[in-house]
Amino acid sequence: MLAIAREALFSAHNYDPLPVVLARGAGAWLWDVEGRSYIDMMSAYSAVSHGHGHPRILAALEAQARRLAVPSRAYYNDRLGPFLEKLCRLAGLDAALPMNTGAEAVETAIKAARRWGYRVKGIAQDRAEIIVAEGNFHGRTTTIVGFSSEPAYRDGFGPFAPGFRAVPFGDLQAAAQAITPETAAILVEPIQGEAGIIVPPAGWLTGLRRLCDEHNVLLILDEVQSGLGRTGAWFAFQHEEARPDGLILGKALGGGVLPVSAFLGCRELMDVFTPGSHGSTFGGNALAAAVGLEALCVIEEEGLVERSRVLGAHMLARLRACNSPVLAAVRGRGLWVGAEINPAFAGAREVCENLLAKGVLSKETHDTVVRLAPPLVISREDLDCALDRFEAVLRDLEKRRHRPAAA
Ligand code: PMP
Repeated sequence: MLAIAREALFSAHNYDPLPVVLARGAGAWLWDVEGRSYIDMMSAYSAVSHGHGHPRILAALEAQARRLAVPSRAYYNDRLGPFLEKLCRLAGLDAALPMNTGAEAVETAIKAARRWGYRVKGIAQDRAEIIVAEGNFHGRTTTIVGFSSEPAYRDGFGPFAPGFRAVPFGDLQAAAQAITPETAAILVEPIQGEAGIIVPPAGWLTGLRRLCDEHNVLLILDEVQSGLGRTGAWFAFQHEEARPDGLILGKALGGGVLPVSAFLGCRELMDVFTPGSHGSTFGGNALAAAVGLEALCVIEEEGLVERSRVLGAHMLARLRACNSPVLAAVRGRGLWVGAEINPAFAGAREVCENLLAKGVLSKETHDTVVRLAPPLVISREDLDCALDRFEAVLRDLEKRRHRPAAA
């Protein structure tokens, strides 16, 4: 198809898209250039939790674009204060630093943690360490991929920044052993998204909170993907009441129309930033702030957190009940599920291609996991329709490949 060929010709090949050319979206639905419809079970990696083209968000975007869009942070603007106040109140933290992409907010958190380590904790210059989890995904900058455990993310991009120490995800003992007097922070995703929607053992986050308190270490949570209702709570840390010192948000904060991210923290942590120490030309612009504020208000006023909890439980229950040998495991929280495909039947990519043919859009992560993460506004009927089609794909694969053991 011409659109695919043209994109492939002029674009870097850093993605391997499914062969569909999208032209329109509304709510939980997408349409391709030929007018075929698809249920979106991907939500642009959780960036489109509000659904495509949410009317309130489009209205806020348009009205603000006409008033004032990008004045820069060389001046105050009348939208940033209300946005950050709402964000801080929802998260229970004191202050926020607005950026654009998730990776930028993670970089902000790393800078905050290191400076706090030197100026508040008293770690010797350039010795601060941050403990991270194996299997992490925090973005694509050189610093961030430097502490990834995934060869594909790192290969050929070194040399990498020192100062990170990785321990197994969900392993409290390993985290405790990795702490030294030079540890400034523990930085983790409460549920690992790109690793395959990996839910840690119950009590791990509260355990990390306790460890951090005991050793004067910051707990920083990357909720770029898990935050803002995705797991059936405003923030995934609320499932365990493990309040972080620093919180990283992005994706859905932009209402599905703009890149908006933020690093939030307690006042002591945020006050390590002084004029000139950090910034972003676009971070905190009036347009982003107006859209971000509306994105938060829509989640609150439309009860999207509760929807995610209720519909997510329904999705998990249905998937667990379908009892297909093609499904090796199903895990997740809220409207965020990883379906682990038994490699004896198919790779996750093939499942996604078969779903595409049936009018459902998803995307594999690694070779074996299909993510099921629709916009939080999806109706129960549309969700059930997507799950019916998913089950049909599983049944087809079962028929094709399954060989009963010889009697
Ligand atoms: N952190 C997490 C947990 C993520 O899932 C992602 C993106 N998948 C990022 C950070 C990076 O966000 P961005 O692509 O907006 O830089």
